[in-house]
Amino acid sequence: MTALQRPLRAVLFDIDDTLVDTAGAFAGALAAVAETHLPEGVDARAVLSHWRRDPGGHYRAYEAGTLDYGEQRYRRAELVQSTFGGARLGRAGFEAWNEQFEREFVAGWVPMADAAEAIELLDRERMPYGALSNACTDYQVKKLTAAGLGRVPMLVGVDTLGFGKPDPRVFHEAVRRVGALHGLDSLVPAEVAYLGDNPVNDARAATDAGLQAIWFTPEGAADAEPTGETFAGPRCASLCEALGWVLAARG
Ligand SMILES: [Mg+2]
Repeated sequence: MTALQRPLRAVLFDIDDTLVDTAGAFAGALAAVAETHLPEGVDARAVLSHWRRDPGGHYRAYEAGTLDYGEQRYRRAELVQSTFGGARLGRAGFEAWNEQFEREFVAGWVPMADAAEAIELLDRERMPYGALSNACTDYQVKKLTAAGLGRVPMLVGVDTLGFGKPDPRVFHEAVRRVGALHGLDSLVPAEVAYLGDNPVNDARAATDAGLQAIWFTPEGAADAEPTGETFAGPRCASLCEALGWVLAARG
């Protein structure tokens, strides 16, 4: 049990690795392209870890609005190739790489362990909810739908304001939109709980924006994203358990 402040009136979720098992989908996609494009015997886990850490900062540049989606993925693919002994792809080679990557990635979109149950709980309790993400809105709607979570409103993507988390305006816009969906015009950030797996872009950023953050730390997440970053506030390995804390502080 943790002390969230009353009154909580809505819940916002991150999507990747909070509602949808994106790390698992990346693992499948990277294993497939590694088998095709990297030398035999390459350590698939090292490739995944490299991808997740984004050592070139290309995905972070996309999140900041300074690099477009296709270009960040191209640069990351080339960096994987050069880091793990593969040949340079070039633009034409990248097209085939990306087609395979995307096909396998999409095939891997499944919900996190108790995500469906968590959304059912909120529906039952009539607690307003929605999602915000540092990926594109349309893409995340497809992802939620494929994972069986299509009823989660995708409120704010990186394309909504042209930049993503940790900027506080992203959280404020999501609060405004979830309030508008439910006729809660007076909803303020402090009345909104936020659940996300990233200690920096989710937990700390949401706290800085005035929301009540819970850092979601599912089993195995520490291995998936060894950033060394942490969050001093509430953390929880189960979405349903975290929502129990939220519902206990609802107003
Ligand atoms: Mg995430």
